[in-house]
Amino acid sequence: MDAEQNDSPADPTTRILHDGAEPELGLPVGDPLELTSFYVSRGAPSQGQRSYARHTNRSWEALESALGRLERAEALVFASGMAATLNLMLALADLVAAGRRPRFVLPSDGYHGVRVLADMLLARGIEHTAVDQQDLAAVEQVLASGESAGTAPILWTETPTNPFLRVLDLRALAELARAHGAPLVCDNTTATAALQRPLECGATATLTSLSKAGSGHSDVLLGAVATRDTALLERLTLWRTHGGAIAGPFEAWLALRGLKTLPVRIERQSRSALAIASWLAAHPAVARVHYPGIEAATLELAGRQMPAGFGPLLSFELAGDRSAQRADSIIAKSRLIQHGTSFGGVESSWERRARWPAEHAPPDLIRLSVGLEDPAELRRDLELALRY
Ligand SMILES: *Cc1c(COP(=O)(O)O)cnc(C)c1O
Repeated sequence: MDAEQNDSPADPTTRILHDGAEPELGLPVGDPLELTSFYVSRGAPSQGQRSYARHTNRSWEALESALGRLERAEALVFASGMAATLNLMLALADLVAAGRRPRFVLPSDGYHGVRVLADMLLARGIEHTAVDQQDLAAVEQVLASGESAGTAPILWTETPTNPFLRVLDLRALAELARAHGAPLVCDNTTATAALQRPLECGATATLTSLSKAGSGHSDVLLGAVATRDTALLERLTLWRTHGGAIAGPFEAWLALRGLKTLPVRIERQSRSALAIASWLAAHPAVARVHYPGIEAATLELAGRQMPAGFGPLLSFELAGDRSAQRADSIIAKSRLIQHGTSFGGVESSWERRARWPAEHAPPDLIRLSVGLEDPAELRRDLELALRY
């Protein structure tokens, strides 16, 4: 499989668009939208034959194939990013356990929903701990201490982190994970495979919420896992088939339609986000901006790990009055930027992160997702909003 895929085009958009199949006369140029609960079939179920549509659907197959070509791996899609997270956690826990209790080593500032889910899994015998994963010595210590406590560590990372957009060193984390026999998962939702390839850095699996930039039009909830590990892929498929956290065919079709323009969208969004982050950093109403493209301490690493751009997402803290009320009134003043959670869509959006109870963010931290609007227009809009 690898030899064949190494011949695939280097450009991500070209890889998404072309599956290498010969064009067939008389067939639609678009992808199948297959609305069915079962496929006509008879006899004993066999691998090659579609039967019941909880097992597979050609609309997901088309999306999985494009995601797989993008990551040079096999991909599975799920009902949402969190459905993908839960199924991946369960599959990894099955594979590493062998008499030991699985223990997820999470980033201290990762997506808050993952912490909530990990807390819920405690009662099922799946443990977790959090560590600042920029501190490699601390990660090493946590991995080692878990082993002596009879637990099997699974390193779960996310870079850039959310909402502080800190860049973690994927190659270094993969090396530490390997040394301790731990699988490494990277939540790649913020950068997406268009900007960052965790599997090439040594990760066992990547997790992507396609509800964000992956689909990009803020009209679908979906998640995906990509891996080159066949045992993990098999286990994950079992959890999806029998747990039923499957994608709807229409959602998969929409996500694939969006995915085709992901590299082009995220390139422009990254360029605009970098310009806006630099502008905000010099603004008197702003005390601190978090963005991989302007963070001096990790700039070299970020450039190596995300060579095509630093993504659409940034966050900033206010100078002077740092109250939640001031941040809320700034957000309320924008005409162009949508108010709300989520990110990565074609339209810019922002929110005060600490409004979510499980979030670890200062009360005034505003997370901004830069969309496809003209960056000069966005700056004018921000200038007006920041006057309050
Ligand atoms: C949104 C998000 C998720 C969860 O995805 P859903 O599709 O909303 O379930 C997981 N990780 C990160 C980093 C996210 O931003």
